[in-house]
Amino acid sequence: MRDILICGGAGYIGSHMAQHLAEQGHRVTVFDNLSTGHREAVAWGELVEGDLLDAASLQRLFVGRRFDAVMHFAAQSLVGESVRDPYAYYANNVGGTINLLQAMRKHGTERIVFSSTAAIFGEPCSALIDEDHPKQPINPYGASKQMAERVLADAAAAYGLRSVSLRYFNAAGALPEHGIGEAHRCETHLIPNVLRSMLGQAGRLQVFGRDYDTPDGTCVRDYVHVQDLARAHALALDYMDTEPGAHAFNLGNGQGFSVLDVIQTAATVSGMQVPYDIADRRPGDPARLVASGERARRVLGWQPTWTELAPIIESAWRWHREPAVWGRV
Ligand code: UDP
Repeated sequence: MRDILICGGAGYIGSHMAQHLAEQGHRVTVFDNLSTGHREAVAWGELVEGDLLDAASLQRLFVGRRFDAVMHFAAQSLVGESVRDPYAYYANNVGGTINLLQAMRKHGTERIVFSSTAAIFGEPCSALIDEDHPKQPINPYGASKQMAERVLADAAAAYGLRSVSLRYFNAAGALPEHGIGEAHRCETHLIPNVLRSMLGQAGRLQVFGRDYDTPDGTCVRDYVHVQDLARAHALALDYMDTEPGAHAFNLGNGQGFSVLDVIQTAATVSGMQVPYDIADRRPGDPARLVASGERARRVLGWQPTWTELAPIIESAWRWHREPAVWGRV
């Protein structure tokens, strides 16, 4: 049993992490400013409200509590918003991470699993993106995560901090049986938008671009279930028991699905039609992002269990059609 601090544990991936750790018998504390997270999503541990940019709330968090490790999900994560407001992204995602690492150092917590992203790679130059792929982010969001990864590498050398950065491709799905799923106040992600359009909770879906160099002209992504992401974090925690230093792994299923594939699969799963229009490309979207998750499988022993698109979308569908979803805003 370990004491784990989850920064950003009221959010989409963080809440699934809390559920998984609690199921494994660990004790969870959630630190969250509730700017994008939901109080109702904190069901597996104490919630400490606070902000990584507020030194006083960080100080309060660590006083009287001891953590064996931190999992750090608290960040801003929208590409378009990062282009419009880069100061906020560098302040939160880099500055906030440094504040957290300094507090950890002061209070003797020496392990962290860091939430990173495929956006650190920029435009792909190979069909499957592995860990050695060039890292040339094309937006401030990706750059801020790459900077934080660099800080972790420097902290390993300087202070002996142990870390694992996990670069997610497209997190998707939900665990409706545990009452958690994806619920952003301003939804930009494809699968929730498809489901919301289908359910009449939003207007017609806008498909951003049909002139990409892909089989059907729409963007191709690698969708990985949020429960499989949580499992990878738990394996990363064990990995740090024996491995000092800073490590990084790409997390994806290694299969690409187009926007039209997602629409078609959602229609099959639900038996409903998705009303959609073809719109202009969204700035900053690469045509294809598909992971090689081979290293995570080999080194961490990660075995994703949600390897097909239909069950992933079906889990999200069951969550979204609930009449009383707490995150519906
Ligand atoms: N997308 C779309 N309509 C939407 C939301 C997303 O066509 O309402 C497309 C988007 O352009 C991208 C893919 O779906 O090609 C996945 O986008 P998402 O925002 O879910 O994840 P990202 O890959 O940007 O992290």
